[in-house]
Amino acid sequence: MDNCIFCQIAAGEMTSDIIYKDDEVIAFNDMNPEAPTHFLVVPRRHITNLEEAKSEDAALIGKLMTTAALLARQRNLETDGYRVVMNVGKMGGQTMDHIHLHFLGGRFMKWPPG
Ligand code: AMP
Ligand code: ZN
Repeated sequence: MDNCIFCQIAAGEMTSDIIYKDDEVIAFNDMNPEAPTHFLVVPRRHITNLEEAKSEDAALIGKLMTTAALLARQRNLETDGYRVVMNVGKMGGQTMDHIHLHFLGGRFMKWPPG
């Protein structure tokens, strides 16, 4: 989608600190990390957010989760644990209008989040 930064990153038109990519998803380090490990898992295909997702997007959205778990194991974070978060819409704290999963690890997480 035009003017979408995450689409541009996925297309290689904007630089980012990419840590994983395949034909469906990419992951890159968050530019404003909230934890020692903080990256985003993003589908290459533009979906604005969970509210806009269709039933046919279910496998792709599930892959965001399984990719997060794969990358956790690669970083030996699976035993200590970690958090995955998806912000949806204005009151959910979503600022980038291309669906993405936050992965946060390397410190204790508070509950509930702010
Ligand atoms: P959200 O508030 O859930 O929409 O999260 C958007 C996240 O994207 C924030 O944590 C930002 O720091 C991060 N972000 C925005 N632009 C970039 C970028 N170009 N590269 C890496 N992270 C980004
Ligand atoms: Zn996009």
